[in-house]
Amino acid sequence: MPPKISGETSYILRFRHACFHSETGCLLSSKVMKKILVTGATGQIGSELTLELRKKYDNSSVVAAGHKRTPSEVLLESGPFEFLDTSDKKKLAEVLQQHDIDTIYHLAAVLSATGEKNPQAAWHVNMDGLYNVLELARERDLVRVFWPSSIAVFGADAPRVNTPQDTVMIPSTMYGVTKVAGELLCNYYSTRFGVDVRGVRYPGIISSETPPGGGTTDYAVEIFYEAIKNKRYVCFLREDTVLPMMYMPDCIKATIELMEADPSRINCRTSYNLTGMSFSAGQLVDEIKKHITEFKCDYNPDFRQKIADSWPMSIDDSLARREWGWKPTFDLASMTRDMIDKLTKKYEAGILS
Ligand code: NAD
Repeated sequence: MPPKISGETSYILRFRHACFHSETGCLLSSKVMKKILVTGATGQIGSELTLELRKKYDNSSVVAAGHKRTPSEVLLESGPFEFLDTSDKKKLAEVLQQHDIDTIYHLAAVLSATGEKNPQAAWHVNMDGLYNVLELARERDLVRVFWPSSIAVFGADAPRVNTPQDTVMIPSTMYGVTKVAGELLCNYYSTRFGVDVRGVRYPGIISSETPPGGGTTDYAVEIFYEAIKNKRYVCFLREDTVLPMMYMPDCIKATIELMEADPSRINCRTSYNLTGMSFSAGQLVDEIKKHITEFKCDYNPDFRQKIADSWPMSIDDSLARREWGWKPTFDLASMTRDMIDKLTKKYEAGILS
């Protein structure tokens, strides 16, 4: 346990905090946080996180960094935007310098299904990008870094029900390998150099805004679009496949709450287990049918079934709940109702892609 240091807890433009790191004795995050960079800002999570951070703090204090995807109008117009390949350390350093960045939410990554099609690219983007972020955080004495891990760290040898925080981690995908290695790297930079890096193992994220980017849980978003547009969906996972999931508002809430938590409450520097709900594809179909009675789903499992079969069905996130007060808001019923409500409005307005 790091010693508890009295004094104010701080966050962007508002407060200050001071906390000494247990092993290094380095001062963790003694400076005021004032300028944020979000990498992967055109992605599923980054696009919504950026807008929420801009709403919460200040538009000009949150720089969005995209790569190849075209940014949305609202992302471009609501604050600063940069095109950036995070595996290019020089360019990343220039962006940090130019905007006087002191806090990074590093979301740029290649996800599980895309990563299995090109494992070399997954390693390159996920590991080189994270290494550059951590090295620059060390060199420039940044205040704080957020980096998300994933339930993909657990392989088939881990208990699949209520998967514990600490257990065997032998993933079968390159994506999972990069997440395990990334967790260890974050822990190393925290203990060795005092970098205040924080992370969670996100489950599958469901959102009504930006489409997902090539993960194994993408079906749980696609199914809503197809249910509303065509009343039919062919699911790439089996009906009985149970996976841990989370609705985007909870994902954003958890991310910001973790970053705002007093450093004395953060004792896990690999990544915290995190979950919102668990359900099977069949249970999701039944829930959607309560709102769209004529909806029909067929099942045609592809290569993603093997990935899903190696992942947890439910997650024990009691450490996150205990240490920094994590509590999800949405369950299967309330998430489904909200998704259908929001997407139906878009469909009626002719803007559901
Ligand atoms: P996404 O695929 O929607 O977005 C990732 C973004 O990274 C994309 O916008 C892409 O343009 C960008 N990117 C790719 N290569 C890059 C490079 N070389 N330089 C800069 N940017 C690059 O992913 P997401 O769902 O928003 O995921 C964000 C983070 O959360 C990732 O680390 C992912 O592993 C993690 N995560 C997501 C989920 C989920 O269900 N969405 C679950 C677990 C973990």
